[in-house]
Amino acid sequence: MKTYKIAVIPGDGIGTEVVDAGVEALKALAARDGTFAFHFDHFDWGGEYYKKHGRMMPENGRDAIRHHDAILFGSAGHPDIPDHITLWGLRLAICQPFDQYANVRPTRILPGVVSPLRGVSGPELDWVIVRENSEGEYAGVGGRVHQGLPEEAATDVSIMTRAGVTRIMRFAFRLAQGRPRKLLTVVTKSNAQRHAMVMWDEIASEVAREFPDVTWDKMLVDAMTMRMTLKPQTLDTIVASNLHADILSDLAAALAGSLGIAPTANLNPERVFPSMFEPIHGSAFDIMGKGVANPVGTFWSAVMMLEHLGEKAAAARLMKAVERVTADPALHTPDLGGTANTRKVTDAVIGSIAAENA
Ligand code: NAD
Ligand code: MN
Repeated sequence: MKTYKIAVIPGDGIGTEVVDAGVEALKALAARDGTFAFHFDHFDWGGEYYKKHGRMMPENGRDAIRHHDAILFGSAGHPDIPDHITLWGLRLAICQPFDQYANVRPTRILPGVVSPLRGVSGPELDWVIVRENSEGEYAGVGGRVHQGLPEEAATDVSIMTRAGVTRIMRFAFRLAQGRPRKLLTVVTKSNAQRHAMVMWDEIASEVAREFPDVTWDKMLVDAMTMRMTLKPQTLDTIVASNLHADILSDLAAALAGSLGIAPTANLNPERVFPSMFEPIHGSAFDIMGKGVANPVGTFWSAVMMLEHLGEKAAAARLMKAVERVTADPALHTPDLGGTANTRKVTDAVIGSIAAENA
């Protein structure tokens, strides 16, 4: 029997709550399926670890997870520690060296979930956002001088490379090609940013020639927010820079009903390094410790992990279980307007996995 080694990094805040739920669901799936198993290794990296050791993860931390089949991640973000330290010290410290350059974020309105968009339901909003995850605005290049003085100066420099843009465009075109509508929208800001974003556009046109069956268009990021809100049915696959896609995918999650539902995969498509799966939300300080975090984003991320591992049947089974649960408003957490808690939703998903006989 195949045993998958999964590195579990819950991080902080509700990250720990939803990842526990995700691991329970994965265990239930493996038990139900009987053809594969998981071996989970838990890592207590994050804000609490930082308070004890002065860093978010051990210096050789990546070596401990380099040979795992996948990483299940919660959230980096602690109320007592500045966000740039938690983010760079943990999440980006894994994504960037493991070259997880393709960040894939599917968005749909799940059964039973109501979109804040008037009259928009299931079929009209079915997107996959591809986020460039290795460079661009989050390249980490920049500096600060004369701190605290009136002449203080600071820069964050966006770096885009031909290699980096080409590979994310190819990834996005290929993904669009594999979806029924074969439709890709390339998000840009080449009117105002006249160097890297112009190269981004040019490379999009070049790569497009390799995919003659994909229909594609280009959209300025500001106009894109309007199109997502007013004409969601005109979009399918979307590719955007690190910063643009970060922002657009929170909007997408909200339009699909809640940030608590949205999943993401940080993929190293060449599989040289493990890929990482996580809900897109953060530590949610306002609800942490209350046991009411929506675990659906983590379950859906686990679905993406199973697909990546090649366990298509188990992935489909978990997604079906999740959709059966979201269809019942009595099983909605407060972010969806309900009164259920994490425990209740998790039990319902596990119950559905066990009960299903297909
Ligand atoms: P957030 O995603 O933590 O929360 C935004 C809002 O959405 C809050 O009102 C929260 O209660 C709600 N929410 C989020 N997930 C939910 C869930 N599963 N169920 C119910 N409600 C949910 O974003 P924030 O408040 O901007 O950030 C808080 C901390 O998390 C910060 O430290 C930030 O840096 C960090 N963060 C980390 C990641 C990550 O590790 N990938 C992503 C985003 C934010
Ligand atoms: Mn974000």
